[in-house]
Amino acid sequence: MTFSENIDYREIEKFDNVSAYWWDRHGEFQVLHDINPLRLKYVQDRVPLQGKRVLDIGCGGGIFSEAMAAAGAEVVGIDMGEAPIAVAGRHMREGGFQIDYRRIAAEELARTEGQQYDVITCMELLEHVPTPRSIVQACKKLVKPDGHIFFSTTNRTWIAYCLVILAAEYLLGIVGKGTHQYSKFITPAELENWAAGEGLVKQDLTGMGYLPYIRKGWLSRNTKMNYFMHFQGRACNCPGK
Ligand code: SAH
Repeated sequence: MTFSENIDYREIEKFDNVSAYWWDRHGEFQVLHDINPLRLKYVQDRVPLQGKRVLDIGCGGGIFSEAMAAAGAEVVGIDMGEAPIAVAGRHMREGGFQIDYRRIAAEELARTEGQQYDVITCMELLEHVPTPRSIVQACKKLVKPDGHIFFSTTNRTWIAYCLVILAAEYLLGIVGKGTHQYSKFITPAELENWAAGEGLVKQDLTGMGYLPYIRKGWLSRNTKMNYFMHFQGRACNCPGK
C-alpha cells in the first residue's frame, strides 16, 4: 500500500475547514484543550520528555506538540492537513517555541527517518485514517528500538457511540458534527494486535473520562470510551534476534 492510500481526503478537508478554531479554547477543539494537561501527564509519568526527540503524528494545530515542547522535548509535528500545519507554525512562532512542523505522511517519513525517535505520540488520529494499522507499522519503523509509542483513540462500543457522537456532536455541540464515524472507532484489542504484529510490547492501557460541564478529563479503568495505549519497541538485544 502506498502512503497516499492511507489518507482520507474528506477527513483532511474537514479539519482544514475548521482550522481557524484550533486555538480557541471554547471552539471546535475545546475537548482537546481540556484534556491536554491530562494526556501530557499520562506520557510524562511513563517517559519524562525533557531532551527527548519526539514525533507527534497527526499534530493538527499543535495543541499537544506545543505542550510537549514546553516540557523540554525536541518535537517534530506532522499532519496531512495544510491549514492545521500553517496554524501550528504561526502559533509556535507567536509563543516562541521551536517545533519542526511538516506536511508529510507517517509512512513517507518512515522511509527516510527510520529509528530516530525516542517517543512517538499519535493522539486522536487513528480513528480518522482508512488503514490505522499502516500508521502503527510506520510508528514501529520510526521509533528507536527501545523507544516509546503512545496512542489515544476511541473504542468501538455503544457507549462511545452515545457519548462521543450523539452527545458531544449532536446534543451538546462541543465537537463538530460529523467529526467521528462509529465504524472507524478501534477496540483496544485491535490496536494491541496490530502493535504485537510489529513486535511492539504493550506497557499500559488506560481509559479516559470527560465531563463537559466541568470541562475536565480524568484517567480511568473504564476503557469503553476513549483510551490511551502505551507500547515500547522491543530492545534489539533480545534473545533470538
Ligand atoms: N493530535 C492532535 C489533533 C487530532 S485531530 C491532538 O490530539 O491535539 C486529527 C488530525 O489528524 C487533524 O489535524 C487531521 O488533519 C489529521 N489527519 C487526518 N488524517 C491524517 C493522515 N492520514 N495523516 C496525518 N494526519 C492526518
